[in-house]
Amino acid sequence: MSKKIYLYGNWKMNMTAAETKKFFDEFAGIYKPASDLEVGVFSPFTSLWALADGAKKNGVVFGAQNVYFEPKGAFTGEVSIPMLAEIGVTHVILGHSERRHIFGESDEMIAKKTKAVLDAGMIPVLCYGETLEEREAGNTFKVMERQLKSALEGLKPEEIAKIIYAYEPVWAIGTGKSATSGQAQEVCEWSRKLIADPKVVILYGGSVKGSNAKELLSMKDIDGALVGGASLKPASFLEIYTAYKN
Ligand code: PEP
Repeated sequence: MSKKIYLYGNWKMNMTAAETKKFFDEFAGIYKPASDLEVGVFSPFTSLWALADGAKKNGVVFGAQNVYFEPKGAFTGEVSIPMLAEIGVTHVILGHSERRHIFGESDEMIAKKTKAVLDAGMIPVLCYGETLEEREAGNTFKVMERQLKSALEGLKPEEIAKIIYAYEPVWAIGTGKSATSGQAQEVCEWSRKLIADPKVVILYGGSVKGSNAKELLSMKDIDGALVGGASLKPASFLEIYTAYKN
């Protein structure tokens, strides 16, 4: 039996509600559900109602790109887990490199968010990965060990098993320069051992597109892709799965 592929799209700060509706009008025309495929889309907060509508009609998973760990209160500009739950959100991206590096989110903050999302019965899509400087200095595994251990500290094995992990080397995100399949496999295999659960879902993210999908997704320890740029159009997004299958 072929492995299940997770094809998750991170829209980042793109796609208004109207554009989200248009995306799904087009998506519905070309999407062919398959038993070995799980599609997920993560939109900005303001598009989540439109995303919920389009995702439910097409049977795809949907989620947010961030959340705050407190349920309510004086946290101007933040969005809580109950607010996401009201829309039907089931998945939340946490620790994306843009959150870590542009907005200064610490390992401690990401750990609190991971725990809060799990406590609410939602699935964190936990991103981790090294910068180019860290890789070149030979610190790739040291950095990722710190990121992963901090997020998983104190969690029960069944909570660790629920998390979807996304290895995203910072130098490969939005640069057009993907990691090689060998580099991505090496880290995903190492991650699976560190997480100490052979069955966890581990995605690779960083400039995934139709032209490199087959090589990357065929790797033993890569269960799918977290896709930025190529997820903004239904055709380029779905092409990643068809390229892998063909
Ligand atoms: C991402 O935003 O998580 C990402 C991997 O982006 P891109 O595919 O554009 O590199």
